[in-house]
Amino acid sequence: MEEVNEFRKDYLLDEWTIISKNRSVRPFDHKKEETTKKENKISVDPDCPFCLGNEKQTPPEIFRTGSKIKWNLRGFNNKFSAVQTKKEFKTKKENILEYGNAFGLHEVIVETNNHSKVLAELTKEEMTELFTAYKERENALKKKQGVKHVLIIKNFGKECGASLNHNHSQLITFPFTPSKIEREMIKAKEFFEKTGKNAFLEIGEKESKTKRGLFENKSFYAITPFAPKWTFEVWIIPKKQYSNLGEMEAETLRDLGEIMQKALKKIHDNLGNPPYNYYLHESMEKNKSYCFHVEIQPNVKKIYGGIEKAADIILIEVAPEQAAGELKK
Ligand SMILES: [Zn+2]
Ligand SMILES: [Zn+2]
Repeated sequence: MEEVNEFRKDYLLDEWTIISKNRSVRPFDHKKEETTKKENKISVDPDCPFCLGNEKQTPPEIFRTGSKIKWNLRGFNNKFSAVQTKKEFKTKKENILEYGNAFGLHEVIVETNNHSKVLAELTKEEMTELFTAYKERENALKKKQGVKHVLIIKNFGKECGASLNHNHSQLITFPFTPSKIEREMIKAKEFFEKTGKNAFLEIGEKESKTKRGLFENKSFYAITPFAPKWTFEVWIIPKKQYSNLGEMEAETLRDLGEIMQKALKKIHDNLGNPPYNYYLHESMEKNKSYCFHVEIQPNVKKIYGGIEKAADIILIEVAPEQAAGELKK
């Protein structure tokens, strides 16, 4: 019998998805050709500015972990920064136009000294070290004059915006809260005022008990969201309310490193090392109705067509319940 496709609304935002139930896609159709063939894997590329031995090719180092010669992580300013701190942020309005100088700081964290290593191959201790570095840089950046928000993002693979193959993440500051996060905050506040509950804690707790629940540890749940923006999307949600990384103690960061490592490994192993993005959604200020979470969006042969571009309505070809089943393998 034919199953009927479904319109699904995002947990909080007024955004719709169409879940296709009849495309009968086989799991194999979603496997990507391995981005880097195993045999071509090199640990040092002499032309890569992020490689061991080429440290002089990057802007001055802000921090490193590991030893002086063999570092694990390195942080520095982005050579091709999207924002600058030259002038203070002020907007001008002229009739229908509003604009101002792109004020902000833009940093890079190189995640491994090995040119070809992917995050799914890091140990959970190494992943914890990365999230601890995020916390420290976020804490430092949010104190800077004119900074309202620190956005932490990871682009992996050309299709997801990575300009260099060597694995790295980015921190970029804004003089305002990015609109998507602000909209989540407004809706989460409305939910909190109506029910007395934190929407994100509800999502984690309730969804983890459905077919969309992936796995959990002491401090976090991993789920496939009800109305995803990408097929095989995964969210990491804490079991206790945190506004941002700055509020997390060492033990929570260890659990975060562990669940992120597991999620990325499942995506890597079951989907064939696809390109992906992940990003942290946080409130820089204490905000009891909001909650820190990570959204991971693998790009498995998904292209936004007219429906997506015209209406922001996303066609999803693998229901999140089926996606969860495949990712748990
Ligand atoms: Zn490299
Ligand atoms: Zn979010």
